[in-house]
Amino acid sequence: MFEPYRPEPYSDFRNPGPLAAYRGALEQVRGQLGGDHPLVIGGERVFTDRFITSIDPCNLDRVVGRSAAGGPAELERAMDAAEAAFEIWSQWTMEARAQTLVRLAATLRRHKFELAAWETFEAAKNYAEAEGDVAEAIDFCEYYARDALRWSAPAPTYAYPGEENSTSRIPMGVGVIIPPWNFPLAILVGSAVGPAVVGNTVVIKPSPSTPVIAAKFMECVEEAGVPPGVFNLLTGEDADLGDALVDHPRTRFINFTGSVATGLHINERAARAQPGQTFLKRVYTEMGGKDALIVDETVDLDEAAAVATTSGYGFQGQKCSAMSRLIVTAQVHDGLLERLKARVEELRMGPAEENFDITAVINRRQCDKIVGYLQEGSREARLVTGGGRAEGNGYYIRPTIFADVDPTASIASEEIFGPVVSVLKARDFDHALEIANGTPFGLTGGVMSRDRERLERARREFRVGNLYLNRKITGSLVGVQPFGGLDMSGSNSKAGGPEYLRLFMEAKTVTERF
Ligand code: NAD
Repeated sequence: MFEPYRPEPYSDFRNPGPLAAYRGALEQVRGQLGGDHPLVIGGERVFTDRFITSIDPCNLDRVVGRSAAGGPAELERAMDAAEAAFEIWSQWTMEARAQTLVRLAATLRRHKFELAAWETFEAAKNYAEAEGDVAEAIDFCEYYARDALRWSAPAPTYAYPGEENSTSRIPMGVGVIIPPWNFPLAILVGSAVGPAVVGNTVVIKPSPSTPVIAAKFMECVEEAGVPPGVFNLLTGEDADLGDALVDHPRTRFINFTGSVATGLHINERAARAQPGQTFLKRVYTEMGGKDALIVDETVDLDEAAAVATTSGYGFQGQKCSAMSRLIVTAQVHDGLLERLKARVEELRMGPAEENFDITAVINRRQCDKIVGYLQEGSREARLVTGGGRAEGNGYYIRPTIFADVDPTASIASEEIFGPVVSVLKARDFDHALEIANGTPFGLTGGVMSRDRERLERARREFRVGNLYLNRKITGSLVGVQPFGGLDMSGSNSKAGGPEYLRLFMEAKTVTERF
């Protein structure tokens, strides 16, 4: 039905063509900053008397936009709209829904640089990071559209004499989508279009830190002709909407990505049946990590330093997959640390719109939290470089390395979510693996080694959902590296993988005796 799936290609911004095109998109979006954006409920644009103001993290005087903030009344309206749309959308064929997603992907692609430019202003993503996020959103639409077709066939079961048996999948109903701000388009889109393509309808509550990009997505939804009410946008403050959405007796499932604290809170609340609730809620919580890269004495240290720099400091370390622990065997510890320091000190820091390597972190809360860890790190370990805020009218934090870090120190065991890397010395590879597995998290991890036996051991014993051998530990591709952690990193949904869509369906078995 469709051409084979392949991930969206990336631009090389060292070339003048893509660079000029991106700058053109920034210019166009710059002229639209500061505008007001509605909620979208049942296809209608809805304004309330309250707004969330989105600020450029690199320039605190610049308002990216104001997004209407919903409350209890809008929540009820969104639930009604999603429920009404479900009656129709769930009856569509899988093929028709898949086609809708491919059309949505085409619409996002047509607006690729424009959407990315919004992210540059709202999330402080430099050009490659912003384009990567939009590309991933497109990939989710394309991949799930194709994968959905598989699920319209009945499940394979054995025949039984005198009977006809079939097991088919049916959609669940209305779900709530709660994404984080760090992949403000990709995770929002992926968590919404997966459930939708198999027949569910959703209420999307974006992060209050990135509401404008969510509004831009809804413009694409409208342009692509997705039926009203399939995707509803309910922006608002967590205090007004978070618990209310999770508790709502008509919320069938919750698809959440964010911190462990919020994920556990949601999981617990959703377990309690509310008055009027007639089903068990399904909850998917993809959460944080304390991801480690192990480097042993068999590898080229320059290459290892390059991999560590990309893994640790891309998008200021604000990726759930980011390397926050670098575990090095004793023989090469000092050599790698020296090379890493040199590379990190070469990173250029400045506004995302000028495409700096390191830009601002997302908001004041995160900035203060990271600074708190920097202070704690200075007490617990040896500061090698960085260690504080940088000049500028934004939330700039200098890329930081701590060495001589004890594995039990808070900077080596808690998620910081900023440009901060702890370097830990291991006696040997066994010890390195023991340190790597020594936190409750299990999201991503990596090993750089030329020793085949060690790589094989890591495959078996390194407890993470996504393990990377001899490459960076960030940048999973939809359909290529299904993504999701083990243990306290979440429910292992494996976004962008072949088992994802099944999470949003129920199975019904019909037996007829002849
Ligand atoms: P967060 O937990 O603060 O917020 C996540 C989402 O939950 C936001 O939309 C927020 O508004 C919402 N929320 C907050 N309180 C809520 C409540 N009581 N009820 C319902 N919703 C509520 O996380 P964040 O700062 O937005 O994102 C960063 C975190 O996300 C990091 O921990 C990172 O590791 C994690 N993350 C994980 C993955 C993954 O795939 N495992 C991917 C990206 C980010």
